[in-house]
Amino acid sequence: MTTIIDGNAVAEEIRDGLADAIDALDEAGVKPGLATVLMSDDPASETYVSMKQRDCEEVGIEAFDYELDPETPADELYSLVDDLNDDDEVHGILVQMPVPDHVDDRTVLRRIDPAKDVDGFHPENVGRLVAGDARFKPCTPHGVQKLLAAADVETEGADVVVVGRSDIVGKPMANLLIQKAEGGNATVTVCHSRTDDLAAKTREADIVVAAAGVPELVTGDMLSEGVVVIDVGVNRVDADNEKGYELVGDVEFDSAKEKASAITPVPGGVGPMTRAMLLWNTVKAAAEAEGVDVDLP
Ligand code: NAD
Repeated sequence: MTTIIDGNAVAEEIRDGLADAIDALDEAGVKPGLATVLMSDDPASETYVSMKQRDCEEVGIEAFDYELDPETPADELYSLVDDLNDDDEVHGILVQMPVPDHVDDRTVLRRIDPAKDVDGFHPENVGRLVAGDARFKPCTPHGVQKLLAAADVETEGADVVVVGRSDIVGKPMANLLIQKAEGGNATVTVCHSRTDDLAAKTREADIVVAAAGVPELVTGDMLSEGVVVIDVGVNRVDADNEKGYELVGDVEFDSAKEKASAITPVPGGVGPMTRAMLLWNTVKAAAEAEGVDVDLP
């Protein structure tokens, strides 16, 4: 029997736990605040930002919504970030990526106050994560860690293959899994587009985390019996339906399920966790900025 790991259910538990922390902040007169900055008219980015704002409102986080025309000069975005850094009601700042080409995304990420960097992409926060002293864990890999824990998957001593080496998923995922800490202590192999024989690597794995952005890259014949499969991928592929597309993961679900002891679906696996962990980081940022002790789920 294969366990289908229910990301919606685990995310709900996290949100319930956060509600208690938000109550504790409320008693101390603090309302956590997240500023989202959207500088794009890409429909997917617009949807992500509006979902993040709705999530905030549902749990009692104040959402401050900033939208800049994609033609806006880069300096205006940088000075908006400066203003948000100085705004005491804003505990977390999220600039939705990608930003237009005339904006240097690295400058944006470096401009955000590391104490408000709830995405965890500022070099100071990346460094702290690598050094085993994370302030904010990036939301997607943190969500994967929580999912594995909720599904009672032991990472200690496990051979994990992470497929993908991006700064937002693959690299931080690998870094979290090798930490000498709960949810870590794994032996990690990071595969990427130049990996010679991906299947040979994934077949050796106890846990595969697929984050390549390639529809159904990982198939059942690339997996060993009893493997745990976490599918981070969200890919739009053409489909004969009203929308004209459907979402598929980086794993071919049906064939992988035949081999796996546990697997996440797409949608309903990692996606809801990413959203929940953004709220988690925002509550943490608010508690630390205001000096309030809270228990985080
Ligand atoms: P990215 O394009 O930045 O990185 C993809 C990585 O995969 C690269 O490091 C590349 O080397 C590797 N790769 C590409 N083709 C490969 C191949 N054939 N074999 C092995 N490795 C290969 O993408 P990303 O931002 O890391 O996102 C990865 C996927 O995860 C995308 O589908 C994205 O939509 C999805 N995603 C989902 C969530 C979520 O919350 N569910 C969050 C972030 C990203």
